[in-house]
Amino acid sequence: MKLPRPWRLTWRTFSLVLLLSMVAALLGVPTAQQPPATAAPVCDRTAVMNARLDELGRAGYTWQFGIAPDGLWGIIGYPGPRDITISDTAPCNAVVTIVNHEWVHTRQEQLYPGRSQQAYGDAFEIVADCGSMLLGSSITPYLERRKRAGGPAGCTPDELDSARRALGWPR
Ligand SMILES: [Zn+2]
Repeated sequence: MKLPRPWRLTWRTFSLVLLLSMVAALLGVPTAQQPPATAAPVCDRTAVMNARLDELGRAGYTWQFGIAPDGLWGIIGYPGPRDITISDTAPCNAVVTIVNHEWVHTRQEQLYPGRSQQAYGDAFEIVADCGSMLLGSSITPYLERRKRAGGPAGCTPDELDSARRALGWPR
């Protein structure tokens, strides 16, 4: 069958376009530009810390970011006795939690000036985590570590009582 000339041209053009498309696909030629992914909101750790401290109060301490010893996320009395240092390496989404925990230490220190660690002994960090939890923290590393070691899950009634006392809450 002899096709009329315009039809043959159309068929040849179609075949050529199809072939070129297949070659382009094989070569990975982009056919459309993807829109850029929406950037995640940046967590401003200093703003997060200060916003939380505006709620709690600074308790007479200078709160700052810096290098904390021993891989700690936060430490009270470092580098100076009235300093609280939050580690530069702590995740930004943990900053509120860390502020809560260190803030409980300021309350413990107010109850037992200069000797809070001795006064609480082994419960120093656990009570700080219990207080931090009462303040709304979902991250309580010392409680989690104790549970992993086979200890009780969460705070005992005595520890909660001690945390409430440190916070000045009714018991
Ligand atoms: Zn602590």
